[in-house]
Amino acid sequence: MATIGFIGLGNMGGPMLANLVKAGHTVRAFDLSADALARAETAGASRADTAAAAADGADVVITMLPAGQHVRAVYMGEGGVIGAARSGALLIDCSTIDVDSARAVATAASDAGLLMVDAPVSGGVGGAEAGTLTFMVGGPDAAVEAAHPILEIMGKAVVHAGGSGTGQAAKICNNMMLGIQMLSVCEAFMLAKRLGLDAQKLFDVSSKASGQCWSLTTYCPVPGPVPTSPANRDHAPGFTATMMLKDLKLAQDAAATNDAATPMGAAAAGLYSLFCNQGHGGMDFSGIIRMIDGQS
Ligand code: NAD
Repeated sequence: MATIGFIGLGNMGGPMLANLVKAGHTVRAFDLSADALARAETAGASRADTAAAAADGADVVITMLPAGQHVRAVYMGEGGVIGAARSGALLIDCSTIDVDSARAVATAASDAGLLMVDAPVSGGVGGAEAGTLTFMVGGPDAAVEAAHPILEIMGKAVVHAGGSGTGQAAKICNNMMLGIQMLSVCEAFMLAKRLGLDAQKLFDVSSKASGQCWSLTTYCPVPGPVPTSPANRDHAPGFTATMMLKDLKLAQDAAATNDAATPMGAAAAGLYSLFCNQGHGGMDFSGIIRMIDGQS
């Protein structure tokens, strides 16, 4: 069993930590939020007073933080993880961040004699609680191999995407597809309504035809066809529109700096930005059908 430092104990990090404790690992928790720290203690972790204290002497350090600037600060800032971790320790960043930050931190870790992977997740809070996340992992083979048994406790699938930063690349490419597909499904249901075509009938056809996709068959934005989708609970999240917008912006920034034309991704980012600016950022991202349908 390993000693694990866990930093960032929010909606995702909290339940991920709980699964590591349940598996028998010794976990030292750190967060800026006293409430999050208290929840981690209740789950069976011990409290660290700083990020460096969580990392000091640990075999593994895991972070689940909001964005690139937090990850850079926690790893590379004064009193950061890279300065505190023991030689040969394994660092796993599960946050969704920009590829450049992921690569900068991985280089600093490697220069300090540490193993590091970027391992963003898909599966949301439900997946974090159930231990069924999908990890997209970027990093050198030795680091990915070392991370595998730890990630398997928190997830059901671990995909090695390539070198450092490619886990983040996979995450933003996937979520750009998701955002665009959700909007396409919303537009189709809106048009069907205007044409007098019943939503269930469109679902029955398209779920078996070429329009089939996850946004339709698992996460249908209208109530009825998929009883477990957020549409059946007034579009309560789920995965918030704010989170979708964050990932679409990461994709747009990456596209701009890597000479990639992503006009559909740009349109999706614009539409989600509008939806969030209308005050709906806390709604599930499938709730954008209300705006597409002229209801908000
Ligand atoms: P959250 O805001 O609930 O949690 C982030 C935690 O990090 C907070 O508790 C905050 O206090 C802590 N934190 C911030 N700066 C810190 C610092 N310098 N030192 C220590 N702690 C610090 O966010 P979340 O929903 O848990 O998401 C975490 C990451 O996972 C994000 O990058 C997000 O994009 C990604 N993600 C979230 C979901 C989801 O459904 N929530 C799904 C997939 C991926």
